[in-house]
Amino acid sequence: MPRHTTVIKRFLFRQPCFPLWLGLVPLLTAWGEAPTPNPIRVAVSLPLLKDVVENVGGPSVEVIDLLSGQGDVHVFEPTPADVRNLAKAELIYEIGLNLEPWLDSLVAASQTRARRIRLSDGIDRIPTGGHHHHHHDLEEPGDEPESTDLEIPDPHIWLDPIRMTYMVVAIGETLAEQRPEAANLFEDRALDYIAEIRKANRTARAYLDPLPEDRRSFITYHDNFRYFSEHFELYPVASILGTISTDHFDPSAEHIRDLIHLIGEEGVAGIFPEYGEPNDLAIIVAREAGIPLGPPLYGSRFDADPEGPVQTYLDLLIYNARILAETLGK
Ligand SMILES: [Zn+2]
Repeated sequence: MPRHTTVIKRFLFRQPCFPLWLGLVPLLTAWGEAPTPNPIRVAVSLPLLKDVVENVGGPSVEVIDLLSGQGDVHVFEPTPADVRNLAKAELIYEIGLNLEPWLDSLVAASQTRARRIRLSDGIDRIPTGGHHHHHHDLEEPGDEPESTDLEIPDPHIWLDPIRMTYMVVAIGETLAEQRPEAANLFEDRALDYIAEIRKANRTARAYLDPLPEDRRSFITYHDNFRYFSEHFELYPVASILGTISTDHFDPSAEHIRDLIHLIGEEGVAGIFPEYGEPNDLAIIVAREAGIPLGPPLYGSRFDADPEGPVQTYLDLLIYNARILAETLGK
């Protein structure tokens, strides 16, 4: 399954490089350590990006999470308040890859002049095996959708800690472009945060490395663990919804039967609901197939309960690794 990125990963982990900053920051100035007097207003499309951008921007950013922590990024319906919030933003960080199908119309409605940064740009993608289809505007009887050769890439890139470090570099560079006088601050903070991600990555690996090869297959709620699994050498063989979006609430009885059959064939070692999504089908499938049911995995948001186990992106990495290791290792 890992088929790329090894060389790039090695390079990034040994010597994080910030080519743009070299040009932007010829000399360290007094501005470097002080927060900018005029914080950058940033909007993010994915709840966990708020934590990431705040880590890089510190007191020099004001981050608006358009989904207010608990919204579902796949199926969000913006309100007039979201339109007003976005109008004030200077920068918008989004994932792209069709993760946020609602964002274009929200941007248009707000008439914001914010610069949009697509964090998936330049990041190695994992194809889903699906294809984009062209639909005719007017559906007539007998019309068949035309298939194209455009593969649909999986948008859940942030669950791979290595790809996240690239996104952190991009966030640091673009914040620096917005406030060149604070470029040093953003560079330092980005490097510190990358070091923390690497540390969390080592902790997560320590949980998952001991799992034997035949305990590495699992089922999720929707297809969002490809990048995480490629990185940690796990096999997310199927999902309850069977889709990269959560915008399909009702998997067919046939799909569930297929899933139970597959569990027997593939030696699936556990099934996991997803935090913030219904867990009833995971409970049924676990019981029918006789495999361990794990606690919910965290995909794109943190715990709504401030006492809950996942409050930051680093928590999310480590917690997901720990519950996967504990459940699959049973
Ligand atoms: Zn998703």
